[in-house]
Amino acid sequence: MNWLTAHRVAGIAAANLRRRLDLPDDRYVDVFAALRRCGLMVAGQEMPNLFGMYFPAGPNRHGGIFLNSTMGEATIRHTAAHELGHAELGHGRCLAECLDPLSGTAPQQWPDEEKQAEAFAAWFLMPIRAVKATLIRLGLDVPREAMDVYQLSLHLATSYRGTLRHVQHLRMVTPDAARGWAAVQPARLRALLSCQDGQPPARVWDLTGLTEGSYLPVEQGDRLIVRAPWLGDDPEFTGPDGVTMLADPHAVAPGEGVEFDVTGYIDSESMLTVTSRDRKETWSVTLMPTPDDHRGLIASARAQILIGPMSGARR
Ligand SMILES: [Zn+2]
Repeated sequence: MNWLTAHRVAGIAAANLRRRLDLPDDRYVDVFAALRRCGLMVAGQEMPNLFGMYFPAGPNRHGGIFLNSTMGEATIRHTAAHELGHAELGHGRCLAECLDPLSGTAPQQWPDEEKQAEAFAAWFLMPIRAVKATLIRLGLDVPREAMDVYQLSLHLATSYRGTLRHVQHLRMVTPDAARGWAAVQPARLRALLSCQDGQPPARVWDLTGLTEGSYLPVEQGDRLIVRAPWLGDDPEFTGPDGVTMLADPHAVAPGEGVEFDVTGYIDSESMLTVTSRDRKETWSVTLMPTPDDHRGLIASARAQILIGPMSGARR
């Protein structure tokens, strides 16, 4: 099976599953909600050399997946969607993932089931409507530079390189441009954007009037740059605990906007609203809950298994 066929099969399977689960296809996709509703057991643990593992249901056991809990959130989400792909496509054997598309085995030589699962992850997490709707919020029709792909990846909570591969597959970016952008380190983009000497924030959002009303899957350590000159000098804000406004912004000049750091956990969907001094102008977004800790949505040292027989899932 070539990649084109794998993408066709996986794209249809991902769209069908999203429809069956009534998940939105125009924004961030909650892969853990999908796993829960599919009745798969999910466990996070430290697994050197492995991203994750899928085991199908057997006569006396639930099907489920293991995820490497030491990875970053975007990688955990991608791996979770990849394993969900194995389950959804009916792949019938235990599979251990130690494949990285950018190293080791050439992608052309991957087994068919791996190609399908990898393509499923991309289509499931990045439906074309979500990609297009997010680009519009970024003021774009297609990505024009590496920074655009980085911002797109933040909004969809996907990895920079996974997002780059997908927009190339969607023919929004030429192979030549994609090759060049693949060499760009997200750390460099973060440093450029934050205008901060030394260690840049873990992730840096570039927000404007166009991104108003967005749902942002933020994480602890994020920097939010809000370019909003209409808010004037010294605007005020309301938001959840765990969000701090910078007294001395780095990337925006006084009167040009504000900056926030996500310094703590956000436990439920919360509005972040900035209001001008005269109270005539506002800008707001909805912040999605942050994971319990850096190890991701699945991770909890005390209760490794979050979803499974105890939750009443079907075998
Ligand atoms: Zn796999």
